[in-house]
Amino acid sequence: MSQTIIIPRAACVIGWPVAHSRSPLIHRYWLAQHGIAGDYRREAVRPEALEDFVNHLAERGYVGANTTIPHKEAVLRLAEPDKDANAVGAANTLWLADGKLRATNTDVEGFLCNLDDRAPGWDSNLDTALVLGAGGAARAVLFGLIRRGVGRILLVNRTLATAQLLRERFGDTIVPIEWSALPDAMAQSALLVNTTSLGMTGQPELSLDLAPLPQHAVVNDLVYAPLRTGLLTAAQECGLRSADGLGMLLHQAVRGFTLWFGVTPKVTPELRTLVERDLVAD
Ligand code: NAP
Repeated sequence: MSQTIIIPRAACVIGWPVAHSRSPLIHRYWLAQHGIAGDYRREAVRPEALEDFVNHLAERGYVGANTTIPHKEAVLRLAEPDKDANAVGAANTLWLADGKLRATNTDVEGFLCNLDDRAPGWDSNLDTALVLGAGGAARAVLFGLIRRGVGRILLVNRTLATAQLLRERFGDTIVPIEWSALPDAMAQSALLVNTTSLGMTGQPELSLDLAPLPQHAVVNDLVYAPLRTGLLTAAQECGLRSADGLGMLLHQAVRGFTLWFGVTPKVTPELRTLVERDLVAD
């Protein structure tokens, strides 16, 4: 009698360092919830070892992977990027299909779904948005905002030249401005997104007076460690709607899980609480 052998599917997150990643917690929760005999692991891979690791993903037992700092840009030339990954200039999700390694960027939908979830209607009649920071996360945010039809995006960055490069990438919708012009920019914006690392554990605080923002404005901090940032506290004190960075982290994970394990998982309050507890325990 022949026996069917089921080989568990596995995915991983590739980073350097990678110990801080909450992705295993998220994907293992969904694996257990859906009764899938799979696994999701952390893989600490140095930049110089990335190409070899990614080229032998299947031999290492993986059907796909997430990439995190510092590999999100480098991985583009090692896989076949889709149009979102190309437009953003970075990929955070890899999967094997028809023997080829594909790459996409799910930070874009993670950012948008989180705002849809936490601040419904945030994009209706959104004329002008204000984005702080011009790094990797900012590129996904800008691409997402343009996709949603935001007409004008004021972009502030410590290094103005980097913001100007993003105008070249994404076009005239992006208006780079000086940090000193923030109060005036806030007065014109119905959405403020922090994509800088300011406010993160171990980094300086982001100290902003949010008073110039209109009362219907939404504040979104991409930083999720700590979960409750100074910026979110300031938004609450001003009576503004806000969305934290954890929601984006959870929502960006959905498509990877679907591609690797064939089931579309849900971002539930229970999952959120699980990761929140882990962040607080740090
Ligand atoms: P990155 O590429 O290194 O960019 C960092 C940004 O922060 C740059 O714009 C940089 O400005 C600015 N910055 C750093 N230190 C600063 C300081 N002292 N004063 C003013 N600006 C400063 O990093 P990233 O990958 O975009 O990540 C940025 C943040 O987003 C991190 O906290 C990360 O955890 C978070 N993130 C969250 C999610 C999520 O799912 N919630 C996803 C991705 C990223 P310069 O250009 O002048 O250096």
